[in-house]
Amino acid sequence: MKLTGLELRRIAMPLVAPFRTSFGTQTTRDILLLRAVTGDAEGWGECVTLPDPVYSSEYVDAAADVLRRFLVPALAAHERLEAHLVGPALAHFKGHRMAKAALEMAVLDAELRASGRTLARELGAVRDRVPCGVSVGIMGSTGELLDAVGGYLDEGYVRIKLKIEPGWDVEPVRAVRERFGDDVLLQVDANTAYTLADARHLARLDPFGLLLIEQPLPEEDVLAHAELAKTVRTPICLDESITSAKSAADAIKLGACHVVNIKPGRVGGYLEARRIADVCAAHDVPVWCGGMLESGLGRAANVALAALPGFTLPGDTSASGRYYRTDITPPFVLEDGHLPVPTAPGIGVDPIPEVLDEVTTSTEWLSW
Ligand SMILES: [Mg+2]
Repeated sequence: MKLTGLELRRIAMPLVAPFRTSFGTQTTRDILLLRAVTGDAEGWGECVTLPDPVYSSEYVDAAADVLRRFLVPALAAHERLEAHLVGPALAHFKGHRMAKAALEMAVLDAELRASGRTLARELGAVRDRVPCGVSVGIMGSTGELLDAVGGYLDEGYVRIKLKIEPGWDVEPVRAVRERFGDDVLLQVDANTAYTLADARHLARLDPFGLLLIEQPLPEEDVLAHAELAKTVRTPICLDESITSAKSAADAIKLGACHVVNIKPGRVGGYLEARRIADVCAAHDVPVWCGGMLESGLGRAANVALAALPGFTLPGDTSASGRYYRTDITPPFVLEDGHLPVPTAPGIGVDPIPEVLDEVTTSTEWLSW
């Protein structure tokens, strides 16, 4: 397979409601899509960067720039292009894992479509549907939060995740427990908003029987999470800190995490995501698939990943309607709290051309 051209396409998708986390509020999702054209087939990639470098150091404009100037030209030079060679071919460029992941996804999709194979099968999926959780943003009031959580439970979501930050943590968790009971699978995500000095405060979450507390401390404070685990009984899950299979192995060895949130974009692609799942399985560490407000393209691939055997906790693989009134692919719809794993070759879904055109803000064709 040889890469003959690649389209960078920016789309802007309005969210059904503003989504607030400890690092900011999103109202529209600005997404960079990649369409890789090879002699055999075309493939889609979705870059999960946010417009600003607030979740990680990457952001959309930087991803487009590094793809255009470095990553795509490096791959274009390869006569024999295969998805498992994308990572090694780009390894000498430091960082930019989300941009690399998007490029690998596009090449992998093209390769699988050309040979009629599904991503789920390629990754080693063992389920044909996956249980779905939902991530609930920080709200203006407890009443608003309870209405939102109640709505999601009515829709059938099997696990609730509350975004937290200092000043919005113990009380919202208490309110959700009091209203909806102890049987609801409940977890929290701080997106790095605390410090080790907050350990005793975070331990106040212990009585609520949470599945986990996700990334309470800054990304590079891996050892501090191990320290935190001495005070906090709720299992600690890492998200931002885990950037590779090696960093996952290190964090587990340090006692810094008991659960891992796997996001392919954060770790450089679906193939590295699978390696992380393997490392975690070898250490009996449960994993689940996170989300970055993906369109139907990234959502399809995430659902395939979430069907792997080590993914024993429900992920943030929510239905399209959680975020978007109109998705660019046929929508993913919750059925009994689950989403079906796509069964068509590659990632298994295609954009609907008219919808895609409607939300497109720019396109750029790279060829050589
Ligand atoms: Mg997170």
